Amino acid sequence: MKYDLIIIGGGPGGYTAAFSAAAAKLKVCVIEERELGGTCLNRGCIPTKTLVHTADLYREMCNPELTAVKAESLHADIALLNAKKERIVSQLRSGIEKAMKSGKIDVIYGHGRIEDANHVTVNDEVHEADHIIVATGSVPFRLPVEGADLEGVITSDDILKDIPQFENLVIIGGGVIGCEIAGIYEALGTKVTILEALDYLVANLDSECGRSLAMVMKKRGTEVHCKATVKKIEKAENGLSVFFEEKGELKQVNAEAVLLAAGRKAVTDVFACEPPETNRGRFVINENCQTSIANIYAIGDAAYGYPQLAHTAMAMGENAVAAILNEKPKKNMSCIVSGVYTSPEIGAAGITEKEAAEKGIDAVSGKANTLSNARSLIASDERGFIKITAEKGSGKILGAVFMCERATDLVQEAANAIALGQTVNELLSVIHGHPTFSEGFVSALEAVSRKI
Ligand code: FAD
Ligand code: NAD
Repeated sequence: MKYDLIIIGGGPGGYTAAFSAAAAKLKVCVIEERELGGTCLNRGCIPTKTLVHTADLYREMCNPELTAVKAESLHADIALLNAKKERIVSQLRSGIEKAMKSGKIDVIYGHGRIEDANHVTVNDEVHEADHIIVATGSVPFRLPVEGADLEGVITSDDILKDIPQFENLVIIGGGVIGCEIAGIYEALGTKVTILEALDYLVANLDSECGRSLAMVMKKRGTEVHCKATVKKIEKAENGLSVFFEEKGELKQVNAEAVLLAAGRKAVTDVFACEPPETNRGRFVINENCQTSIANIYAIGDAAYGYPQLAHTAMAMGENAVAAILNEKPKKNMSCIVSGVYTSPEIGAAGITEKEAAEKGIDAVSGKANTLSNARSLIASDERGFIKITAEKGSGKILGAVFMCERATDLVQEAANAIALGQTVNELLSVIHGHPTFSEGFVSALEAVSRKI
């Protein structure tokens, strides 16, 4: 069959590109070897957030001082939770399948292989295309330490399949996956230990997030070791022993299971011919998502230079199709929000004051404590903050960090301002509803406005 566009991979990058191309009347084919929805829908964003929602509710329900609700013999029902997760995933997946049908997009299930710049093989059939988008995503990175292949050493794929129960769990990696899964298991009653090699948890964000998160987690009984590098894993009498180096000392922690959460590896083994250029195992692309082979594009987790996030993959999908249609990029890639679904949540956009200084920008920050926000106080008894960074003089918003109730939604308000070049005073002129969580953003704007 001859297509205008063949997309390999039906995750958020691939399906968004397909919908965008079909809307422009291109003849499109998506090749998917597992399920439509990719990592995000089937073993990533959506299953984790389903578990996070229940874990947060359960943690709250166990705290009558906070909820003013007393319940007898409360327990989290894992079978029900698993069924809920399956129901949500399959409902959303069938939405994507229906949209593929109504967009007249051919979906072929099988392993796609690029033979040359215009030909793709799947299920022993060769298809021709004017353009190809590689949207093959990523898989959990298997840490190259001794014992990483032992039984009981698992990844997020194993956790999100059927939510196994553990008395205790060691998590290697205190990044986004490690911290989100730690929060879920801690709430469900598992003794969790996090081993993180860097100085802080979620170390790619403002360091105050990682330090505050470690404090909250420790208060709830999770053991957190930062500057702790894992050396090897061994079989122990009742599970596994993990050996790690902390402050020059070799230490050991035992657990029933060990979760590897030390990053994700891009899937790039899709070329039967000479592949395009890669960097750190991901395809190098230009601003149009074009690889070093002109009519082959790469988007999402498999492409180099952007955070491995679902909304990044979707935006790249739209921009790659715009480039194929000789149109301007649809999405502004200069400000990509990130969210960490811990309790409290974290949301970040733009740059920190430290990053601004490194770029030679004169910047100031202002911070508000969210316990002085009525809605936050009602909803949570945890300390939280909103920090805004702005350019000195102009007051242009450069970055914002939220660590509070609803942070992953609130951060969008800051991201819009950053992407649209708005200033602190412009935002302060907008009336915010009362009582709302977003008034916390106004307090942080007021704090930074005093320094501009
Ligand atoms: P993927 O979603 O990985 O999809 C790629 C698809 O390509 C897969 O379906 C795969 O089967 C298919 N494929 C690969 N090779 C071939 C081939 N040769 N032939 C045919 N098909 C092929 N991001 C967020 O923004 N928010 C979150 O809350 C979030 N939570 C996450 C939680 C977890 C536990 C994990 C693991 C990830 C999470 N992410 C989150 C990241 C997000 O899932 C990814 O960034 C996103 O799925 C990337 O989309 P993609 O389209 O590039 O690739
Ligand atoms: P990550 O890069 O966020 O964190 C991995 C952590 O493992 C790092 O902090 C690293 O220092 C640590 N590490 C590596 N080797 C180690 C060792 N030997 N000992 C101890 N620590 C070690 O990766 P992740 O958490 O696996 O997430 C993968 C990707 O998935 C991320 O890019 C993230 O953006 C995406 N994701 C996003 C969300 C979200 O948006 N809410 C949720 C989950 C995953």
